[in-house]
Amino acid sequence: MYYSGPNLQAALVNDAGEVLERRETAISPDTMVQQIAAVARELGSHGDVSALGFGIPGLVNRQTDVVIVSPDLPTGIRENLHKALTEATGLRVELENDANAAAYGEFKVGAGRGSHNIFYMMIGNGIGGAIILDGKLWTGSSGFAGEVGHITIDTEGLECVCGNTGCLETVASAPSIVRRARERLNRDSTSSLSRLGLKKGFTADDVAHEAKEGDDFALMMIERTGKYIGTGVASVINLLNIERIILGGGVMDAGDLILNPIIQEAKRRAFQPCFEATKIVAGKLGRDAITVGAAMLARDALAS
Ligand SMILES: [Zn+2]
Repeated sequence: MYYSGPNLQAALVNDAGEVLERRETAISPDTMVQQIAAVARELGSHGDVSALGFGIPGLVNRQTDVVIVSPDLPTGIRENLHKALTEATGLRVELENDANAAAYGEFKVGAGRGSHNIFYMMIGNGIGGAIILDGKLWTGSSGFAGEVGHITIDTEGLECVCGNTGCLETVASAPSIVRRARERLNRDSTSSLSRLGLKKGFTADDVAHEAKEGDDFALMMIERTGKYIGTGVASVINLLNIERIILGGGVMDAGDLILNPIIQEAKRRAFQPCFEATKIVAGKLGRDAITVGAAMLARDALAS
């Protein structure tokens, strides 16, 4: 399962990582545990459920199973979420940061299959990252490794939610793409010819869609976003000399339109021997990455 307030995305996943059933529902913070347990029971009526994997945006201490930071969860529930879910469902529960869960999913049954070391980047409403070394999630000395969205890209840039300025997330997350597009539409008269200018409340998905339809302005916005991401990717390549970098999250729905500029920019900026040793690919699990990955974490926790 994956909770990103207020939506719960749930799936019944078999041992091979295939999705058999899906449920999506809005849940309220006050009754979230009961509602999650009800969805688990519902899915359980379609097949034997042996464990529950749960991904959330935020930081999870995997030693204590305590949620340290999560803007989507009410304060009262963070510390006890794992225990409450275990009690309410009667299942073994694995709680994990969403990017870590998605990385594990791609590693086990998606674009990372067959590799030993991967870096996963999830580019959506925020930008998260995860590192798998020698087949295991490497979460750092206190569980928070891989925060690639908070790598500084522009020292003169905007303030980020983390308190730093000019983080990758402030230019390449979905809301940042919309903000940059809007700013440009406002100040540049030629860009007002873009079809995006006709839509009031457009989203990052709309920008990607118009780019695919051949809108020059939308295409330029996607390419520039790709350049920012590629700049971050180059740093990751230099730092880790990693086998594969897998890019997922909603922003990657733009497909090759964004993947190609990411690869080009990473090539331009990374140390060449490191770049040549790294494959940069799009994720294969799409929007199921977190739910499937959480399920695979639960599957493997049961087996260990
Ligand atoms: Zn930041």
